[in-house]
Amino acid sequence: MTAEILDGKQIAAAIRAELAQEIADFVQKTGVTPGLATVLVGDNPASVSYVTAKGRTCQELGMQSFQHTLPASLSEQELLELVDRLNRDRQVHGILVQLPLPKHIQESRVLYAMDPNKDVDGFHPVNVGRLLIGEEIFPPCTPAGIQELILRSGTPTDGAEVVVVGRSNIVGKPIAVMLMQKKRGANATVTVCHTRTRNLAEHTRRADILIVAAGAPKAVTAEMVKPGAVVIDVGVNRIGTTESGKPKLAGDVDFDGVRAVAGKITPVPGGVGPMTITMLMRNTLRAARLQVEGRS
Ligand code: NAP
Repeated sequence: MTAEILDGKQIAAAIRAELAQEIADFVQKTGVTPGLATVLVGDNPASVSYVTAKGRTCQELGMQSFQHTLPASLSEQELLELVDRLNRDRQVHGILVQLPLPKHIQESRVLYAMDPNKDVDGFHPVNVGRLLIGEEIFPPCTPAGIQELILRSGTPTDGAEVVVVGRSNIVGKPIAVMLMQKKRGANATVTVCHTRTRNLAEHTRRADILIVAAGAPKAVTAEMVKPGAVVIDVGVNRIGTTESGKPKLAGDVDFDGVRAVAGKITPVPGGVGPMTITMLMRNTLRAARLQVEGRS
């Protein structure tokens, strides 16, 4: 068997086209253009490229982008004051503070200072709580992208065995919570694995849907996958440099080996990555609806 490629770029492009139309309708109806403020502290190259892509995508879809690029020496107090200004700015519907922040700034203080109704990344504890009880407004972007990929590829989740490798607050835990909800596109039986899991392969081999967010290249190999399984590779690992000097990327799954066993598989790059930014755009439109129309 050779697995079908789940093309995140193509699926993300289709969702972006739908969003662009929804945004145009919203602007026409309300006279308000949804706005996303991005905050970048320092010049970490990966963060710079993520923030640039987020700003560009905002504009492509007809939304406003307000980019705040600040030096790594910025104090925590100055950053909190900026967040406070953005909380009160009526043109700004969504706020995204690019992580990681420099070590002298406590990330949780900055996230907690954000207006939960502008927290389009979904990391504020209020939004984490909303997600847990199944009443989310802003599902975190990478897990939301994974769920949308699963849905749009026609993969049934109802009663499916889902195994998640990784338990981080930004990917592993939220995707596990989302897929176990009593909802459409969920209703799965979810197992979460991590570095203390005894016999990882025993779990992964049971998965109808295997989601790998470990941050470790080849953490999952062919013999760990059930034939026909849907494999979502979230990992982004720099494994060298291309001839043109760009970083060479690989996921957490041994792609060539697993492709011969799985039913469907996401590539890296071009799988989960494009979906993440698209979900951020969806959350920004939701934030604008919430603030302008009182509903998301
Ligand atoms: P993280 O915070 O480092 O968490 C990794 C998790 O995987 C931890 O729970 C860890 O277990 C577990 N783990 C690591 N190696 C393992 C192994 N060999 N077997 C079993 N479990 C293992 O990482 P993250 O933030 O969730 O990100 C995961 C990966 O996704 C990274 O490569 C990251 O770059 C990528 N990512 C991609 C996107 C995107 O948009 N494409 C977005 C976010 C993240 P312990 O808890 O026991 O340490």
